[in-house]
Amino acid sequence: MEPLNLDTETLKILIASPEVFPFAKSGGLADVSGALPKALAGLGHQVKVILPKYRMVDEKRFKLEKIKVDVPAITIGEKNVKIQVKSHKLLSPPVEYLFVVSDQHFDREELYKNPSTGFDYEDNDERFILFSRASLEILKALGWEPDIIHANDWQTALIPAYLKTLYTDEPFFKPTATVFSIHNLAYQGTFPGNTFEKIGVPKELFYPTSPFEFWGKVNFMKAGICYADVINTVSETYALEIQSGSEFGYGLEGVLRTRNTDLYGITNGLDYDVWSPEKDRLISYNYSWEDLSGKQKNKELLLKLCNLPRSSRDVPLIGIISRLVDQKGFDLLAQISDKLLALDLQLAILGTGDEKYHRLFKRMSAKYPEKISVNLRFDDPLAHLIEAGCDIFLMPSRYEPCGLNQLISLRYGTVPVVRRTGGLADTIENYDPQTGEGTGFVFENYDALELLDAIKLALKVYEDKESWIRLMKNGMKKDFSWGKSARRYVGVYQKALKKKLVVDV
Ligand code: ADP
Repeated sequence: MEPLNLDTETLKILIASPEVFPFAKSGGLADVSGALPKALAGLGHQVKVILPKYRMVDEKRFKLEKIKVDVPAITIGEKNVKIQVKSHKLLSPPVEYLFVVSDQHFDREELYKNPSTGFDYEDNDERFILFSRASLEILKALGWEPDIIHANDWQTALIPAYLKTLYTDEPFFKPTATVFSIHNLAYQGTFPGNTFEKIGVPKELFYPTSPFEFWGKVNFMKAGICYADVINTVSETYALEIQSGSEFGYGLEGVLRTRNTDLYGITNGLDYDVWSPEKDRLISYNYSWEDLSGKQKNKELLLKLCNLPRSSRDVPLIGIISRLVDQKGFDLLAQISDKLLALDLQLAILGTGDEKYHRLFKRMSAKYPEKISVNLRFDDPLAHLIEAGCDIFLMPSRYEPCGLNQLISLRYGTVPVVRRTGGLADTIENYDPQTGEGTGFVFENYDALELLDAIKLALKVYEDKESWIRLMKNGMKKDFSWGKSARRYVGVYQKALKKKLVVDV
């Protein structure tokens, strides 16, 4: 048979994601699912994106239109759920966003967590079984047959599993190959064994070590890893780390190793339409590496907004924007908080997450009100201003699949201090005082004193304005745009299609 020349083919791609910027966002996955489809469409591919219609999705702002299409009721165990479909079309580059509407499942205050309990919604299994099956049924009802379905994280991991089980004999999906992206392996979608009946695949598929089974429980992420034609994660280092042991693999390292030849690492890009100090509409003073004057004005505004006193000395301002969870290294910060705040610096923190970190930061701000501003909420405009107004950005992560905040920080001349792990290791070059090369400060081990030393080194370099400005500019000139990463995704899509061809033959 003639080999397919996939390299020149225009692909029909569905990207399924539980969060997509600008519609619904809790973290970096939304940035990726917002930017990658546009980059792919820019390369000439036909792209649709599907996500749940949460309350957070602003129907009026995005002028969502109801699509007249008859989707059969979705079966979840004993229940049959009727859904609707809404759409938003971006014209240039052309991308259609499809929204799965089921108010009883998605019209809620938060995306995944019940704010009144602080825990995940109890029916998260049903919510994302519904989303995954509905995604497939909607495609059929629309008659839009994709070459690739690109599923993202556990919430969509059942899509590749369904295609290889319930839908395996459906002619409609014969040409469709699947790619499954792991954005964070720590969140696997693990549920009690009785969730399996709700999924609706034959019961013989649930046994110890089966793709759906994980120590007696149901694990959506594992099913995605086992059934997808090709898997990828969001940096090359993280792709190695998650196979290396339980510290990063969270029990799935062995499964990942069995799929080693189909596992790729592609570093995320950054959407410079959203994140560029030159044209950022959410900051008051635009600036560029050629004219940094706006940055100082943003700093003054940020200090004012954060109720932090402005000193006549040039005190370095350190920013943190983060989900406040164990992954992000805040236990290190807790260990050194007094030593850190004894230094000549100020801190602006923005984040929400675990109660223990809320308490930690509240304690720190009560003790050092002139030095630290704590903002425990999700606030996109403030995130932009912190990136623009701070001098240094802190990411001491225990693990970091890719990380976007360090890429944003580079662009905004806000020098990152990071731990050498995952995507942080792949994107930040440690500063070399001899040569002036490098883009940030990288410490090696998950150790509070190493973090403190890295911050102290940053403060020392900050005192030498010439070196500091060079360091800022080194980062600002780096190119982490989506162009290169989107091409690598197309390569992975082609691998998935070839793989499927081989398996089907
Ligand atoms: P993760 O995906 O693990 O949360 P990333 O660094 O990859 O971390 O991406 C985080 C994204 O979420 C960035 O765009 C960041 O600005 C944003 N973000 C995180 N917390 C907040 C918050 N409290 N308010 C506004 N934006 C936030």
